[in-house]
Amino acid sequence: MQNLDSLNVSGKRVLVRVDYNVPMSGSVIQDDTRITASLPTLNILLEKGASLVLMSHLGRPKGGPDPKYSLKPIVDTLSKALGKPVQFIGSLPGSDETLAAVQALKPGEVALLENVRFEAGEEKNDPALVDKLARLGDAFVLDAFGSAHRAHASVSGVAAKLPHAAGMLLQTEVDALDKLINNPAHPYVVIIGGAKVSDKIKVIENLLPKVDKLLIGGGMAYTFIKARGGMIGDSIHEDDQLDLAKRLLSEYAGKIMLPTDVIAADAFDKDANTKVVQSNEIPDDWQGLDAGPETVKAYTAALQGAKTVFWNGPLGVFEFEKFAGGTNAIAKAVGDLGSGTYSVVGGGDSVSAINKSGQASKVSHVSTGGGASLELLEGQALPGVVAMQ
Ligand code: AMP
Repeated sequence: MQNLDSLNVSGKRVLVRVDYNVPMSGSVIQDDTRITASLPTLNILLEKGASLVLMSHLGRPKGGPDPKYSLKPIVDTLSKALGKPVQFIGSLPGSDETLAAVQALKPGEVALLENVRFEAGEEKNDPALVDKLARLGDAFVLDAFGSAHRAHASVSGVAAKLPHAAGMLLQTEVDALDKLINNPAHPYVVIIGGAKVSDKIKVIENLLPKVDKLLIGGGMAYTFIKARGGMIGDSIHEDDQLDLAKRLLSEYAGKIMLPTDVIAADAFDKDANTKVVQSNEIPDDWQGLDAGPETVKAYTAALQGAKTVFWNGPLGVFEFEKFAGGTNAIAKAVGDLGSGTYSVVGGGDSVSAINKSGQASKVSHVSTGGGASLELLEGQALPGVVAMQ
């Protein structure tokens, strides 16, 4: 990818696609990892004498303005992190009003645009919107790793219209994840959790030949347990993935680990009654909502001595405190591996778990991209990365 050194930005207005799609509760930011992760690029551009126009999406508005998805609540946190005022431009990013506002920026000044997905053409990569967005900068920097897998107007679209380069975050992410697919040090252990097999099956298939152990957790484990003939009660599973699960279990028998015990609940509820049961003997009307103690012990043991570790997806319904134990234990186990292990955590839920457990600084790389990191690990070329090459 072309890097920031290849761009002349002094006295120029630089349009930067950042990823401020942060978890929000109302207008309160729940995790600011993605905001702080953008600072190195912004600071370098400012030091070089640029003015900055920051562009991002937030959530999934339906192609029109929706106050619920406004980026305005980001301004305060960003401004504090950057140590300078940030102007918020609330008009539609492609509008003439926005153009006039950014034209008034002086070198060293920073403006944040409103949610670019308020523009109906964003996700369609509409050429008319691309032209309007390209007017906003003399150069374009893509630093939104979390959106690099999208061929959207604000990602690959504008890149084709302006001199461009990859930001520091995008570069760091691509380098970090590359080590997981090209020549990883062994033993190599991957932990994949989350709700569905179908969401992560391509990553699993791409990584299985490369890893020494794949620890499966979360809701997706029950499809595998059922495929092996286990009784999974009411647990979440996908019948249309059973054949695939069977094939993987026989092809990679020595590599795949499944939960042996689970915390079963009598309802999908934060206050449900619970009991620890064997993962293949879950009673009717009960469902597995977290890894059991024996499983946590076995997975923690499997991680010891690993030289490369990748973790994506919670081991249970960690949103409910009663079922967060497995996920938190894995966060601690990964963090405790120490500097002799190259460890990467990716995906929104696992990242917030590692942040909450206070272990984030102990892992080698915390990825800011959920879908983007998975697509890279599937071996796919990301449109944003291709656009920067
Ligand atoms: P993903 O986005 O695929 O990583 O999935 C994350 C979601 O999986 C979280 O919202 C979890 O609550 C959910 N999840 C994890 N384990 C289970 C389970 N055993 N049953 C139902 N949902 C689960």
